[in-house]
Amino acid sequence: MEKVYDVIIIGGGPAGLAAGLYAGRARLRTLIIEGDKEGGQIVQTAEIENYPGSLAEESGPALIGRMSAQADKFGAEKTLDTIVDLELEGAEKKLVGKKGTYLGKTVIIATGAVPTVIGCPGEKEFTGKGVSYCATCDAAFFEDFEVYVVGGGDSAVEEALYLTKFARKVTIIHRRDALRAAKSIQEKAFANDKIAFLWDSVVKELKGDGLLESMVVENVKTGELTEICADEEDGIFGVFVFIGFKPATALFQGKISMENGYILTDADMKTNVDGVFAAGDVRAKSLRQVVTAVADGAIAAVQAGKYIDENG
Ligand code: NAP
Repeated sequence: MEKVYDVIIIGGGPAGLAAGLYAGRARLRTLIIEGDKEGGQIVQTAEIENYPGSLAEESGPALIGRMSAQADKFGAEKTLDTIVDLELEGAEKKLVGKKGTYLGKTVIIATGAVPTVIGCPGEKEFTGKGVSYCATCDAAFFEDFEVYVVGGGDSAVEEALYLTKFARKVTIIHRRDALRAAKSIQEKAFANDKIAFLWDSVVKELKGDGLLESMVVENVKTGELTEICADEEDGIFGVFVFIGFKPATALFQGKISMENGYILTDADMKTNVDGVFAAGDVRAKSLRQVVTAVADGAIAAVQAGKYIDENG
């Protein structure tokens, strides 16, 4: 007879691992399924200083390593597989992976979201070393430095305004000559004398020796290439990229209620499908951070336990 788990968690980032810890600790038969490697987006973070209780400088992989070991300690099983199909209705949920099929009484979706990347040379290399996709996470590292924000939507302009609290100058690089952001947000940016604009421009290359030191920007109207270098005394500048964010929800299209691709839940992480919960960045929510992801994971696991108690 095939094994039926109490809780199957899809995704092994902070939300999934926290759900695994809570479910395992509640003696629920728990499986965490992660695509190719554990950790989610946070493993790309060189240093986390806003996770409550973490005073020592700690990297994303180190924090994830501790979360993972803690989930193991309480008996959560783990497997690396990519889910390609699923049946979520009914008492027994069926997840079909590339390597196997998994049955569960409940499912917690913690597949996360990924920021859209520029896709230029150097971007991957300097992520966490000058290039960031999260101002809340990394703004403090650029106290009194120069930073650039790529994008012209609400996120780019709001984050540029936030960055002015830290950086001495913030330049928004936008591919057109007009912002997409809401007018009220634009007005605040235009009125802020720390914010400058580089219109009709795209980043073509990011360069440096260990840390980000220069970038090549193209004017899309004239084709002219300009190299922007870090101030000699600074030796580094920041590039914050906000050109869209994509939740990993393609698998759940048509099966679960979503808004703009993000899964809708109530405050107990319940989706519109009985026994199916969502946690972390994949949810429609206002703050996507490790601290909110782990909280979601804990709530989802506790609610999954309650669902099993009530439904057998
Ligand atoms: P967005 O609205 O899709 O804006 C993306 C921006 O990035 C656009 O300005 C776009 O340029 C630019 N862009 C896209 N691909 C690019 C590329 N390859 N190279 C250079 N630039 C590129 O995304 P968002 O700002 O993340 O916002 C997502 C959603 O959340 C929106 O619906 C937004 O309204 C909402 N949101 C709301 C708030 C708020 O209400 N306070 C805050 C944040 C986000 P173009 O303009 O030329 O297309």
